[in-house]
Amino acid sequence: MDFDVLIIGGGVAGMSCALVIGSAMEKPYAENRKAGIILHQKSSHLQSALLKNVFGIEPGTAGGEVLKKGMIHLENLYPAMEIIKKEKVKGVEELEEGFRVITNKAEYTASKIVVAVGYTSPFRISGLEQYLIPHKKAKVSKNRIQLRNEDHLVKPGLYVAGTLAGWRSQFAIASGSGAAVATDILTDWNGEHTKVHDKLT
Ligand SMILES: Cc1cc2nc3c(=O)[nH]c(=O)nc-3n(C[C@H](O)[C@H](O)[C@H](O)COP(=O)(O)OP(=O)(O)OC[C@H]3O[C@@H](n4cnc5c(N)ncnc54)[C@H](O)[C@@H]3O)c2cc1C
Repeated sequence: MDFDVLIIGGGVAGMSCALVIGSAMEKPYAENRKAGIILHQKSSHLQSALLKNVFGIEPGTAGGEVLKKGMIHLENLYPAMEIIKKEKVKGVEELEEGFRVITNKAEYTASKIVVAVGYTSPFRISGLEQYLIPHKKAKVSKNRIQLRNEDHLVKPGLYVAGTLAGWRSQFAIASGSGAAVATDILTDWNGEHTKVHDKLT
């Protein structure tokens, strides 16, 4: 397998998931693990947001700035998280073990994948159609979609995060959803409940 975990989507949920997993890559339970993110940010809903109501973010910050800084943060602090830029996922194939992720430029295999591409319809990734349902927490007139899941798990190894998991569209909710998936994956790797905290010395 190319990756133990591959995150698809570099918006709020995908970035949050990548930062938490990235922060654990030097832990013993992550030894020899390979993690990556297909960091496509162009169509993130955050690109058109002006944030005033998000805890920890300076009121009046443009969403695009948060996305750009998030990528630099990830690159500088957690280089073990492989960043794949300028690729868009076209399809996902379920293998006997794991998944094949097909982009417009390459193919990758991964034991686990996290799909965090937002709740916009139509859904343009082939191979996941059987999990698509109408979004349960958005206006029907908006025609939003989600992947059927239980606590972010669609099926073993296949996770969904952010608005595509059925959450309402707020920055903090999407971010928390991505972080929740990250800790579920770390918990699986570690064999016991796991979180990653840095402390003041
Ligand atoms: C105009 C506007 C204003 C907003 N204002 C606020 C606000 O003031 N406060 C607040 O809390 N929230 C606000 N939000 C909501 C917030 O932006 C969303 O809740 C959040 O972006 C959802 O995160 P997500 O990760 O689910 O999706 P997104 O952030 O949309 O991320 C999805 C990511 O997937 C990528 N992607 C899509 N398709 C593919 C593919 N095929 N392959 C690879 N990558 C792909 C996209 O490029 C994108 O980066 C606002 C939203 C909008 C539209």
